Amino acid sequence: MKVYLNGTILDAADAAISVLDHGLLYGDGVFEGIRIYGGKVFKLREHVERLFASAKAIMLTIPISIADMEKAILDTVAASGLADGYIRPIVTRGTGCLGIDPVSCEKPSIIIIVGTIQLYPEECYRKGIEIVSLPTRRVPSECLDPRIKSLNYLNNVLAKIEARQAGCKEGVMLNTAGQVAECTADNIFIVKHGALLTPAPQCGALDGITMRTVCELAESLSIRVTASVLSRYDLYTADECFLTGTGAELIPVTKIDGRTIGSGEPGPVTQRLIKAFHDYVKQ
Ligand code: PMP
Repeated sequence: MKVYLNGTILDAADAAISVLDHGLLYGDGVFEGIRIYGGKVFKLREHVERLFASAKAIMLTIPISIADMEKAILDTVAASGLADGYIRPIVTRGTGCLGIDPVSCEKPSIIIIVGTIQLYPEECYRKGIEIVSLPTRRVPSECLDPRIKSLNYLNNVLAKIEARQAGCKEGVMLNTAGQVAECTADNIFIVKHGALLTPAPQCGALDGITMRTVCELAESLSIRVTASVLSRYDLYTADECFLTGTGAELIPVTKIDGRTIGSGEPGPVTQRLIKAFHDYVKQ
């Protein structure tokens, strides 16, 4: 595993940051998750732009340009020698005093970790997974905009623990109004009468890059996509359901809160989109 740390590429064991970094002390920072497929970094520009947008939203000035960030990512990938893998760029507020005010942090820390990822066993992609709705609600967008991919993931971490304790690998998070927002680290889609539905951004979801890719692929396959307000009833009565994320890619969901979705097997629209996605990343 190779790590870029403030301009130097190191082995993971040699990459260390200060215990006074506000990324550690307060989760004060932003991050991304990016895939490498066949030696190519997937949607690099989109991810780097989202990283810079997240940083701007939290008033964190990244001390290098977008082009230099892209180069740093590509250089670290090259040093790793990995043709298929996962990249985790992180920008923290940097080292400061023990108080919360980032005014004491002089320089943001830039970290890029390149390794591998496998979120779900292969079987889950063929058979689908079971999910449950979770007690922990998504932080309201009035408090923290869900489009900010910040290092503050405790909301999602608690939800993930709840999913695991319920015997599931993922779970669906509702917003404080009880509407479907997203999963703990994935966006969610349902299929109804051949068309795709996904929660509207104001329902509290990250603007997922895999989600955007799936919307584009659906359009090219003449499958209609609508962003809307979804309830648990909509999930339970869906014909198909699947999740999207950089790590998970597209994963079919065949049971939600004990209700079987559609036939109980990954549906035809989901399977078409999984195939289209695999073909697309191989290009
Ligand atoms: N929602 C959350 C909360 C996430 O952390 C992620 C990233 N794993 C996603 C959705 C999916 O976004 P992307 O497709 O950009 O990875």
